[in-house]
Amino acid sequence: MNIKAPKGTKDILPSEVENWHFIENNAKEIFRKAGFKEIRTPIFEDTNLFERGVGDTTDIVNKEMYTFIKSDRSLTLRPENTAGVVRAYLEHNFFRESPPVKFWYKGPMFRYERPQAGRQRQFHQIGVEMFGVQDASADAECIMLAVEFLKSLGLNNLTVEINSLGCNECRKEYKEELKKSIAPFLDGLCEDCKSRYEKNPLRILDCKNEICNKLFEENNLKEKIAGIKLCPECSSHYEKLKMYLTALNIKYEENTFLVRGLDYYTKTVFEIKSNNLGSQNAVCGGGRYDGLVQTLGGEFTPAVGWAMGVERLNSLIPQREGEKLDYFIVSNNQLEAVKLTMLLRQKGYSAEFDYNSRKFSKQLEKASKIAKHAVILGEDELKNGYLTVKNLVTSEQEIKHLEDLI
Ligand SMILES: [Zn+2]
Ligand SMILES: [Zn+2]
Repeated sequence: MNIKAPKGTKDILPSEVENWHFIENNAKEIFRKAGFKEIRTPIFEDTNLFERGVGDTTDIVNKEMYTFIKSDRSLTLRPENTAGVVRAYLEHNFFRESPPVKFWYKGPMFRYERPQAGRQRQFHQIGVEMFGVQDASADAECIMLAVEFLKSLGLNNLTVEINSLGCNECRKEYKEELKKSIAPFLDGLCEDCKSRYEKNPLRILDCKNEICNKLFEENNLKEKIAGIKLCPECSSHYEKLKMYLTALNIKYEENTFLVRGLDYYTKTVFEIKSNNLGSQNAVCGGGRYDGLVQTLGGEFTPAVGWAMGVERLNSLIPQREGEKLDYFIVSNNQLEAVKLTMLLRQKGYSAEFDYNSRKFSKQLEKASKIAKHAVILGEDELKNGYLTVKNLVTSEQEIKHLEDLI
């Protein structure tokens, strides 16, 4: 019986892992400089956390969660990490620290979705969360950080799309208007949209169903619905965000249809798209979630953050090769070869030898694939106490003494 990796999961092989290290190391370095501290939360949490935190009108909670029962407790593999980070923020009293409190994370997330190109059931995200700042400078900092991180990976041609969803007050009126515009063709929409219509009509704009999208177009929904009419406070927050972005030289586009797939966003939402491989790909999504800490049992705490899919990032950057070994020992004297290998490692070099004592030509062939230098330890060399060192890039050969080498 051949057991395979479950559908929607993937092994990250040694040949691919260089890219992962590259992405993770860049994240670590850039976030550290900006004062963000890494936090590692559990991969599974109380199911309640996501029902309350992510929102029970979202696809994530309704259809995509991996939930299981252990000892009468319902647990869920995290479908995203903002709720988990907020839970940790509250559990460890980070709200007592002087704001802002800034976290970043990386790790696997789990959603039961139909696997397709670039979408897996176990996928990985890198994200940041920033607590305690009401001012739009926090939103701008988060966006700036995302742009800087993406650029460090070599992703250029970035488009930053922004929108403001306002607060509950500004949304009330908008929801009514939206419902009025949708009502005439509600019957034709998918079942999800029908149930969203009462519970959370904003989510309808986010529907991926082709039938719904066609109906939106036929009914000129996009033209009919202007953006949310923001209350004075939300409006001034949004204006400030734009001012900060301009001051930071971040080009942005306003997209009044940007609502994001999660319930917890308030005011700012944004998406960053990359044009790297010709087609446009969303590589980052985030926004402000001022109500979430309170929803999960804390005091009112403004917060903003974003997440990026690592698989997506990976697909947009060229495959990086791992660093080659410093030395490969070519010899038919196993004992001397293993001694030299160990000595080199002790001195801080990376080294390997041929465990099978194959022909020199075979050993050199292998050496040129995996190492920068071959150290040839043949009969002559052993008898006369020297080493032949071959630079496998330039093919230059040099005779050296052991002391010179180490
Ligand atoms: Zn408002
Ligand atoms: Zn729909």
